[in-house]
Amino acid sequence: MARQQQSVRKRTFIRRKICRFCADKNLKIDYKDYQTLRIFTTERGKIIPRRISGACAKHQRKVTKAIKIARNIALLPFTTTGAR
Ligand SMILES: [Zn+2]
Repeated sequence: MARQQQSVRKRTFIRRKICRFCADKNLKIDYKDYQTLRIFTTERGKIIPRRISGACAKHQRKVTKAIKIARNIALLPFTTTGAR
């Protein structure tokens, strides 16, 4: 029996993007470059998963690493939830 595909959810406007680091080779992943890294974090400071950010595995890994370094030197927040 043929499997029917689940209907595509249209709630979110996430599109399959190309990895922006692959597309733009001038763009480098650097932990000091928090403005670039901030694209890959939510407002709460969480790292955006690959399926949303659109980065490839290789670059997502680098981004994650860079974000973690940046957090340690207080360039990026761990969380901004604060006290309830
Ligand atoms: Zn890439």
